[in-house]
Amino acid sequence: MKNDNIDKIKVGASRKIEFDEKLRESRNLYKQGGSSDYDISRYELIDHEFKDGGRKRVYKNLNFSVFVDDYCNADCKFCVAQLRYHHKNELYKKGHITDPDKYLARLDEVLKIVRPLDPSVSLTGGEPTLSPLLTEVLKLVDKYGFRKRTITTNGSGLLRVQDNDIILNNLIRYKWDHLNISRVSPDDSINRAIMRFSEGSEYCDMAMLREILEICSRSSLKHRLSCLLLKECVHDVAGIKNYADILSEAGADNFIFRELMDYDRLAVNTEKTEYCRQNKIKLYDIWHQFRDHPEFVPYLNLLGYYYYVEIYKYRNMTIASETADMNIQNLEKAAHPDIVYEMIFHTSGHLTGSWVEKEEILDRYEP
Ligand code: SF4
Repeated sequence: MKNDNIDKIKVGASRKIEFDEKLRESRNLYKQGGSSDYDISRYELIDHEFKDGGRKRVYKNLNFSVFVDDYCNADCKFCVAQLRYHHKNELYKKGHITDPDKYLARLDEVLKIVRPLDPSVSLTGGEPTLSPLLTEVLKLVDKYGFRKRTITTNGSGLLRVQDNDIILNNLIRYKWDHLNISRVSPDDSINRAIMRFSEGSEYCDMAMLREILEICSRSSLKHRLSCLLLKECVHDVAGIKNYADILSEAGADNFIFRELMDYDRLAVNTEKTEYCRQNKIKLYDIWHQFRDHPEFVPYLNLLGYYYYVEIYKYRNMTIASETADMNIQNLEKAAHPDIVYEMIFHTSGHLTGSWVEKEEILDRYEP
């Protein structure tokens, strides 16, 4: 299929740095029934034949997410991994390759399949630092030399020893670029209460976080603290400043504040979907309040296929903020069924274009 490169939007390192408030307003109108500014045909797409997915056009700057495991020692009231299933009226129940050797062999096979598409790679879960296979996964990804490697974690297992060193050092050794640590509050007791870590499990308290950030500062591994905005926790400009100010004293200088994702209101009603409904904070309101806070200097905004991001500079820190809407994701995918926007490797061994493992199977695991 023809892939015309004229007027393509630049992404990644060659993205144009600009901040245009019109983009925010039009995304907001789209959510209320207007038309979308996002046009996938303005991005570079690569033709690719998948074993089970057939002929597809793949978004050139796509991300490949790897589920290392789906076990987590927390039970966040808002768990995004679970919400992605609830949104589709599915219960969060995934298949597993239970034999570690078979899991690694299948991951190796899938890495070979996706490598020609040059995706960035993200490790996710569950809590990936608790998987006994994590360091082997790091080695495998490094073997194929993928660009931009990110891990998202609640931080609890980063100082665990695996393969004769702490996991954090293994991330550095195997050339991981970005470390995203999820934390809803700088206050340990509030953070523990909302993320609901299981009794007796490891927990990344402020002292441990300080140590992690100190190690990162001596390496090429860039940190980012990720905070979900919640009515019962960080919910306004003052809260954002307080979060960034306190954590900057622990060595952090890069943050992302996320709005709870919009999901299908007809989705299966669980404790988590109800919690999200009650705790939703709209970034749109906060962005307008930033106007009265000149210490937040607009830097860049960008529109993704179902998310919208604004980045600010605050003191010597970078503050990103993101909204995502799973209903928009559904609409975008339905309009372009031949396009792969992202790829996911599930614990079942399937390679899919969806966060729900039985949807959009590109390469089915056949043991
Ligand atoms: S830490 Fe992440 S995977 Fe674990 S419960 Fe919280 S949101 Fe879910």
